Amino acid sequence: MAKIMMKTPLVEMDGDEMTRILWKMIKEELILPFVDLKTEYYDLGLENRNATDDQVTVDSANATLKYGVAVKCATITPNAARMDEYHLKEMWKSPNGTIRAILDGTVFRTPIIVKGIEPNVKTWEKPITLARHAYGDVYKNVEMKIPGPGKAEIVFTAEDGTVTRDTIFEFKGPGVIQGMHNTEQSIRSFAQSCFKFAVDTRQDLWFATKDTISKKYDHTFKDIFQEIYETEYADKFKELGIEYFYTLIDDAVARVMRAKGGFIWACKNYDGDVMSDMVSTAFGSLAMMTSVLVSPKGVYEYEAAHGTVQRHYYKHLRGEETSTNSVATIFAWTGALKKRGELDELPALSAFAEKLEKATIDTIESGYMTKELAAMTTLPDVHVLNTEEFIRAVRKNLEQ
Ligand code: NAP
Ligand code: MG
Repeated sequence: MAKIMMKTPLVEMDGDEMTRILWKMIKEELILPFVDLKTEYYDLGLENRNATDDQVTVDSANATLKYGVAVKCATITPNAARMDEYHLKEMWKSPNGTIRAILDGTVFRTPIIVKGIEPNVKTWEKPITLARHAYGDVYKNVEMKIPGPGKAEIVFTAEDGTVTRDTIFEFKGPGVIQGMHNTEQSIRSFAQSCFKFAVDTRQDLWFATKDTISKKYDHTFKDIFQEIYETEYADKFKELGIEYFYTLIDDAVARVMRAKGGFIWACKNYDGDVMSDMVSTAFGSLAMMTSVLVSPKGVYEYEAAHGTVQRHYYKHLRGEETSTNSVATIFAWTGALKKRGELDELPALSAFAEKLEKATIDTIESGYMTKELAAMTTLPDVHVLNTEEFIRAVRKNLEQ
C-alpha cells in the first residue's frame, strides 16, 4: 500500500515523561506505516528546553506561525521539585504559556465520546467544546485588604494626565477590594478565535457573561462579540446553518445541563476555569479530552488536555507494566493531520486521520481499553490492555 503523501510539514513538539513514550509509539505504530510523514521536529522535553535556555519553545511557536499547524506532546511545567530532578538552570515557564503568548490564541477542549463511557449528564449526546478566554480578569488582579474605615476609589490617569475617578465603597470598618482589567485587543482575539472555530467545526457558538450586573466590564465582552459577529461572521453562519447565541451566564449553565451537546461554549477566564473542570469531569476522563489552541492569526496547535502522567512514567522506569490511555494524544495527531489535509487540499490525509479516530473509538467500543476507562465503563465484556497493547489493538483495527 502506498503511503499517503503530505505537502506542508506539521510542527512537531515532543514532550516529557509517559506522554513522550506514547508519542513515539503512536508515530511508529499508527502514523509512519501509513503516512509519508513530514514534520519539523522540536524537542520540548525539559532537558532540551534547559539546554537551549527555552529557545526551542519560542522557535517551535514561530514555526507554527510559519506553517500553520502544530501537534504538541504534554510537557512538564517546572516547579521546585523539577529544578532538582532535572538540574535546571532556571524554573522555565510553562511551554503552553509561552506558545500561547506568541500565537495569541484560545484553547478549545473537546471530549471524545465513546459508547460505554457515559457522561454523568444524561442529556449529553454530543461533545460540548469549552473555550476559555486565557487573559486577564481575576487572574491579573490587584487586591488590597482594607484595615478600617476610609474611602476606596478607582482611578484612571490618562497619558495626557486627565484623571477619572469613582468611589468603590465608603468603608465603616475592615474589608477587601479588588481591581481587574482586560484589554479590547485580547477580547477581540478571543472572539475571533471562537467564531473561526465555530465555522471550522460547523457548530453553534454560545457565549455568556453577567452583563446585567457588570454593565461596563462584562457588557464590553458582549458588545465586542456582537460587533464581530455582525460585521464578519453573520453571513457565514447563516450559510452553514449554525447559530451565535448570547445569554446570561446563569442561564447558560442551566441550558447546558439540559442540552444535547454539539456546540461550543465560550467562557470568560474564570467561568472557563470552573466550567471546564465540571464539563470534563462529567464527560468521564481527562485522558479522553483533546485540546486545540486556535489563534486569531489562523494557526492551530493540537494536544491532549492531560499532563505528562508522571506517576505512570515512574512505574515504567521501574520496569512495571503501565496502562496509560493514549486516546487524547492520538486525537492530537489526527486533529493536526486533518487540519493539514484540509489546508493543503489533501483529502486522503484527512480521510486517514478520520479512519484512525474511528479505529481508536471502535477499539474501546468493542471492549478493549486501558485501565482507567475499564474502571468506569458500562460495557459488559471488558479487556484491560497495557499501554502498548492498546496502541497495537488500534493498529489492528486500523489495518482492517
Ligand atoms: P496528569 O499528567 O494529567 O496526570 C494526573 C493523573 O491523571 C495521573 O496520575 C493519572 O491518574 C490520570 N491520567 C492523566 N492522563 C492519563 C492518561 N492518559 N491515562 C491514564 N491516566 C491518566 O497531571 P499531573 O500528574 O498533575 O502533572 C504531571 C506533569 O504534567 C506536571 O509536570 C505538569 O506540569 C504537566 N502538565 C502538562 C500539561 C500540558 O503540557 N498541557 C498539562 C497539565 C500538566 P493515576 O495516577 O491515578 O492513574
Ligand atoms: Mg482550574
